[in-house]
Amino acid sequence: VTQVPLTAGPAPRRHSVAVQVGKVRVGGDAPIVVQSMTNTDTEDAASTARQVAELARAGSELVRITVNTPAAAAAVPRIAERLAMMGVDVPLVGDFHYNGHQLLEREPACAEALAKYRINPGNVGFGAKRDTQFASIIEMALRYAKPVRIGVNWGSLDQSMLAALMDENAQRAEPWDASRVAREALIRSALESAAKAEEIGLERDRIILSCKVSGVQELIAVYRDLATRCDYALHLGLTEAGMGSKGITASSAALAVLLQEGIGDTIRISLTPEPGASRTGEVIVAQELLQTMGLRSFTPLVTACPGCGRTTSEFFQVLAKTVQEHVREQMPLWRVKYDGVENLTLAVMGCIVNGPGESKHANIGISLPGNGEAPAAPVFIDGEKAMTLRGDNIANEFVGILDDYVER
Ligand code: SF4
Repeated sequence: VTQVPLTAGPAPRRHSVAVQVGKVRVGGDAPIVVQSMTNTDTEDAASTARQVAELARAGSELVRITVNTPAAAAAVPRIAERLAMMGVDVPLVGDFHYNGHQLLEREPACAEALAKYRINPGNVGFGAKRDTQFASIIEMALRYAKPVRIGVNWGSLDQSMLAALMDENAQRAEPWDASRVAREALIRSALESAAKAEEIGLERDRIILSCKVSGVQELIAVYRDLATRCDYALHLGLTEAGMGSKGITASSAALAVLLQEGIGDTIRISLTPEPGASRTGEVIVAQELLQTMGLRSFTPLVTACPGCGRTTSEFFQVLAKTVQEHVREQMPLWRVKYDGVENLTLAVMGCIVNGPGESKHANIGISLPGNGEAPAAPVFIDGEKAMTLRGDNIANEFVGILDDYVER
């Protein structure tokens, strides 16, 4: 039986070399960074700038955009200009596959406007051209003083690396299983590419690594291994996590284990959005994952009970939703006006069973009357009962009390 520590909290953060990505520091002792990616056509500078702005306002601290064609590369500086006009200051990361060396050479303004280049060693080129094309991108990073993320992905793994490892495995007295061979291929692809980049002259403080797979257990195993074999800053993400609750659950399960072990300097939650839905959902999930684990604070957290047979009216759910939405709507303004507001805790509880107790633990909490209880909702502020609300206007009154508290 593994000895589990009895103290609460994550393991000390793994040591990594910090990397400056525009104004954002990744790794070292910097806070774990939230990032996301657009799904607009980058050639459409207006739509892409709008979505980058939306993601940045939701809390994405880095935003990656696809750079796949000459027209997309030409649009990148225009996107940066539009963002500046909108007052949005967020580092843009260019996602390159197959032709990154050509696009960066052809569009110097794109190479300059991006804060980081993401390259996938499996998609840099094929055969004899691979090494020269990889070297070209690293030389561009050196010329423009930009960091790179060497991002290996299980879906586009370097097949020659995998074939070589399968041959190597066949020689072993006790061959590894296929999963371990694949993990080793991912890790070696990342580490050998990083070593090549260093040989060309890129310093370690300009290199971030990622090795993404779509299975929870494989991702944990890959990063645990990778983390012990280098001190590069690591970007975490479960690739192709899926839609809705499945994507959220799988990403949270995988990333929470790694973050708890001190592994990870920046994260992305790769959710497939519902058709027509905003892309910002993945940013909220990333923030909530870090905040509920106590690793960072972004917004006041609302604790709410699930409700049960003691709360048969919908009023309790409506109040919880009203409070949650109010906090999200107000946060952009609150963040600017009130230092530390992101550390507040709120409680919205359905009855007296756990209501007063949970409310006392929050900065501000309310316990609604459950079935058969007196029609009164005690409000607790900083652990003390401050007032009792009654009648049909409890939701608005509670939101008003919350606003006053924040202002004070
Ligand atoms: Fe049910 Fe009350 Fe517990 Fe909420 S606090 S889950 S309403 S018993």
